[in-house]
Amino acid sequence: MNTSILASDYKDFPYWWDRTPRPVLDEIELPEKVEVAIIGSGYTGLHAALQTARNGRETLVLEAQEAGWGGSSRNGGQVSTSIKLNLTELSRRFGPEKARVILQEGVNALEWVGRFVREEGIDCDFAQVGRFNGAHTPRQFQRMKSHLEQRPEDFDSGVYLVPPAEQSGEIGSNCYHGGLVYPHHASLDPARYHQGLLDRALASGVKIKDRCAVSRIERQGNGFLLYTDSGTVQAKDVVVGTSGYTGSVTPWQKRRVIPIGSYIIATEELEESLVDQLIPKNRVITDTRKLVVYYRASPDRKRILFGGRVSLNETDPNKSLIRIFPQLASTKVTHSWMGFVGYTFDHMPHTGIRDGVHYAMGYCGSGISLSSYFGAKLGQKLAGLPEGRTSFDDLPFPTRPMYSGNPWFLAPSILYYQLRDRFFS
Ligand SMILES: Cc1cc2nc3c(=O)[nH]c(=O)nc-3n(C[C@H](O)[C@H](O)[C@H](O)COP(=O)(O)OP(=O)(O)OC[C@H]3O[C@@H](n4cnc5c(N)ncnc54)[C@H](O)[C@@H]3O)c2cc1C
Repeated sequence: MNTSILASDYKDFPYWWDRTPRPVLDEIELPEKVEVAIIGSGYTGLHAALQTARNGRETLVLEAQEAGWGGSSRNGGQVSTSIKLNLTELSRRFGPEKARVILQEGVNALEWVGRFVREEGIDCDFAQVGRFNGAHTPRQFQRMKSHLEQRPEDFDSGVYLVPPAEQSGEIGSNCYHGGLVYPHHASLDPARYHQGLLDRALASGVKIKDRCAVSRIERQGNGFLLYTDSGTVQAKDVVVGTSGYTGSVTPWQKRRVIPIGSYIIATEELEESLVDQLIPKNRVITDTRKLVVYYRASPDRKRILFGGRVSLNETDPNKSLIRIFPQLASTKVTHSWMGFVGYTFDHMPHTGIRDGVHYAMGYCGSGISLSSYFGAKLGQKLAGLPEGRTSFDDLPFPTRPMYSGNPWFLAPSILYYQLRDRFFS
């Protein structure tokens, strides 16, 4: 990144960590035996743990770094239904009935996470602000219009079109040609949300051992033996919630998840009137480009938080920010950070069981609601509760020949998307 735009107090870690630093946990001995062992302490792992512990099963979470260190404390805090594919695409793959059930599950996840935050009283700035999705070309706006006309009314209801002439009510930028508003989408402070979840997991009796990477899982009798640097632990059941950080310990899942870097910057504090002009309704914002950008105001509405996948010749999210908001050309950046999102070959999140090991992962960059929901569902399943079933349980989790977890094809595909965004959208 161009260093002249960096503020004198610049930090290379998530803005969220200023207010919610990575937690310092009590050091615990690795127990010899537990009922449920969970790998990864993000939303997936902790939601699973909360359910198993609250339903009376002895639960241990093992985390390679610090608690919540992965996507769950470094994301953009934009909460959506998390399903990337639309009804037409899903119907083509799974038939119209299953397609509707899948989309409904996304809506359930969004509602579920809002209810969870409310009922547990988690102080994480959760707000149903709605999403504005900008059309980056007139053709994309026409596509939005026809998708909306064909869309059944019964899920993610209330979505409406914003014509170009009314766009300034949503965003202080001329770079779009209208867009769509999803009024039920929300925003939160991801690290506060994770901290609230962590506090509740600990209070429910979950044991968490951080800085303790699992290096091998071995089948043993009716259960498993997990190897770590601190020794081994036997577990009756194992859950893997490693998403974009999935490694060789679960090679089958590693062959199915594509780790993609996503980058975010936080601006210095801005004038209140400027933020009001840029994002007047406090929406979270995305657009129709294949090379994703996502942005919003900080919960205190003093800064803009801007994220995206970078392209080959643009490794600096600040350039994309200024293209959208030229008003910020001389604004300094106080924080920049990155993390890995877990993408999948079919653009779908996946949960299921493989060789006796339960997993949920691959949320394709919008996983706040679904990682929480799938994590909780996995936990319910392991607690023997029928509500643990999801309509994703029986979906195939595809890989590709020659793919072993190292996404060599990303550079050419980014170039392709860049050209497509510029010339063919
Ligand atoms: C920069 C960025 C921006 C994003 N923005 C959004 C957004 O705005 N909205 C949205 O909905 N989603 C967003 N996401 C995606 C979202 O953050 C994730 O989908 C979600 O956090 C996944 O949670 P998880 O618990 O499955 O995985 P993670 O939170 O990534 O946790 C996985 C954990 O597993 C640990 N681990 C890995 N291997 C091992 C091992 N062998 N032993 C022990 N521990 C291990 C890792 O250290 C890591 O802490 C974003 C992600 C990133 C990176």
